[in-house]
Amino acid sequence: MSEEDTNFEAGEGPEEPTNHSQDDQEAPQREPIPSVLHSFYEDRPFVSCTRCGESLEHFEEGYRISKNFKGEEVIVEYALCMPCLNAMLDEASEESKQRLAEFQNERYRDVSGFNDCALCDKQFDEVKDEEYGLVGVCHGDDMVDSAMICFGCMEDMSEIMSEETRRTWDKFREENFPGVPSDFEPFPSRPAPVTL
Ligand SMILES: [Zn+2]
Ligand SMILES: [Zn+2]
Repeated sequence: MSEEDTNFEAGEGPEEPTNHSQDDQEAPQREPIPSVLHSFYEDRPFVSCTRCGESLEHFEEGYRISKNFKGEEVIVEYALCMPCLNAMLDEASEESKQRLAEFQNERYRDVSGFNDCALCDKQFDEVKDEEYGLVGVCHGDDMVDSAMICFGCMEDMSEIMSEETRRTWDKFREENFPGVPSDFEPFPSRPAPVTL
């Protein structure tokens, strides 16, 4: 239960004054993938896509690591290459996509890293004993964006999904993580590339 077991500061590198303009608010800030986003089960960084099995370093577009925790326990973890992630998101019903896009527009906060929930004003310290999810958008060995989502927000997100959409993700989860209870959120890709 001590603080030193965790490594969460890794998500928040020191903010250096930048010498590029502030206009490009999404200027990727590369940093090495923090160990908290390594594969717990394999005890090393993720090397292949959980869905298609392709080697992650080959994806120009990068990939996304998602890990759900309960306290310090890893409940589920996976890495999806962008084509697989998009395919998964694409299977969502039109209605779900629409609602998810609205939800993102309403709730996504301009935060990055693991200290603040991306969707509400909770901080990691307030949620670390319950369930929460960590997400990292990665490219090669680097992480270019990261987010934390608290349990309440996962539930909110899951609520707006249609039955059908939830089934897609449940199926993915069952196939890859048999025995894992399925209260699942499809983390939308961020920051809001969805066009309405
Ligand atoms: Zn894949
Ligand atoms: Zn939240």
